[in-house]
Amino acid sequence: MNYISTRNKGYSVSAAEAISRGLAPDGGLFVPETIPSISMDEIRNMGSMSYQERALVILEKYLSDFSEEELKDIISASYGSNFDHKDVTPLHFVDSSTACLELWHGPTCAFKDLALQMLPHLLTRSLKKCGETRDVCILVATSGDTGKAALDGFADVDGTKIIVFYPDDGVSNVQKLQMVTQAGGNVLVYAVKGNFDDAQTGVKKIFGDKAFADVLSERGYFLSSANSINWGRLLPQIVYYFSAYCDFVNSGNISWGDILDYAVPTGNFGDILAGWYAKKMGLPVGNLICCSNANNVLTDFLNTGRYNKNRPFYTTISPSMDILVSSNLERLLFTVSQNDELVSDLMKQLFSEGSYQVDDAIISSIREDFRSGCCDDTETKDMIRKSYQDEDYLIDTHTAVAFRVLEQYRTENANVPTVVLSTASPYKFCDSVLSALGKNVDNCLGAELINALNETTGVKAPEPLKDLDKREVRFTGVTEKEDMITVVDQFLA
Ligand SMILES: *Cc1c(COP(=O)(O)O)cnc(C)c1O
Repeated sequence: MNYISTRNKGYSVSAAEAISRGLAPDGGLFVPETIPSISMDEIRNMGSMSYQERALVILEKYLSDFSEEELKDIISASYGSNFDHKDVTPLHFVDSSTACLELWHGPTCAFKDLALQMLPHLLTRSLKKCGETRDVCILVATSGDTGKAALDGFADVDGTKIIVFYPDDGVSNVQKLQMVTQAGGNVLVYAVKGNFDDAQTGVKKIFGDKAFADVLSERGYFLSSANSINWGRLLPQIVYYFSAYCDFVNSGNISWGDILDYAVPTGNFGDILAGWYAKKMGLPVGNLICCSNANNVLTDFLNTGRYNKNRPFYTTISPSMDILVSSNLERLLFTVSQNDELVSDLMKQLFSEGSYQVDDAIISSIREDFRSGCCDDTETKDMIRKSYQDEDYLIDTHTAVAFRVLEQYRTENANVPTVVLSTASPYKFCDSVLSALGKNVDNCLGAELINALNETTGVKAPEPLKDLDKREVRFTGVTEKEDMITVVDQFLA
């Protein structure tokens, strides 16, 4: 199975090379040349398997240049006691036709763990296969969730180092504590004076510095990123769509072959796109419901075929979905159109004008699989309160967006059994969840918020977030954005 670039379909590489490179040389994203198929019998067989065994069935289809032994090693290194639930991604039934897929039982309590616990293992083995002898140093600029999930994934993985830069005044107290207490001999965390843009611009500048790359290369290092356009981050997400389907059937609420809808809190379009791959492989998926907050650029695109990022940017209580450019949409546009020239052209328009329009054929084809909706912060909070009071189920702000959009959707459509993807533990966003429950949390710090949510609801805090304020703070460095390169230089001395 080879991978091709969305901007040049003549450029074809192995899975190991696609994962090693991250991005194609023409700036395009890698997609599988053909989408592998799976039979209903194979899906049925997965019903009695563990999550790890289900993962092997799916990964084998996409990573033909890896042996079964290698894949088993990668999977067991990725999903073990680092997850606090034996099912890895358990289903919680709200009623017989609505189940919540809890994707936050990993070490950082957010769904990005499913991909970022696996990526380091996929990446280091891919690099070896491609003959790379230097060590990789991952550079991350983070506005919160990704930094911690990447740190935890790469911590103490042989042949890797990781440096995370976070904006001094741009992450929550809990997020900061999570990062500065990170264990591991190969990790470094630094605050950058400024906002997220300053940190990101600084990292991009370091990536673009050829002379610095040569210096590092002589020392046996090269720089890479862990962002969500790498195929190695998307692939592990396909697994849980299958796993949720099997668990839904096992619950007795549907039978093999019945259709399930999935409602997905969406930002960069990676998570929901994994669901689309699952459907194209042969999983009986009806609609993928793309759920957005006030930054509803995708809702408009799916309704009109026009993508337009020239609009106000809202800072919401579901910050991981505050995104105006959803990079993974490029993969969908290419796979639906099979037209690499068109995709290059659309991406040029997005860069220069901030918008593009696709033709009717493309948007109708996309609408066969996707529905969309959005809600604001008030509706999100109402949903959190309602879920807690009526269903005795505590959900985070991102998950609440999906539940709310599903509720709207069901007022106008038949009630199809649906899986709602839950992307973060409510404990990751304590302040907003507490305020939704009517608590005043002004001036509370991270650890106090965790205790307050526990006292208010009786729901246990996840182990990784407990006693966060009692852990050793390992990283106190603060840098001007101009000096970020010096931080990297000294760490890799
Ligand atoms: C990253 C993230 C999302 C959005 O996922 P995409 O793959 O970017 O669409 C939603 N919820 C949470 C909690 C996240 O961290």
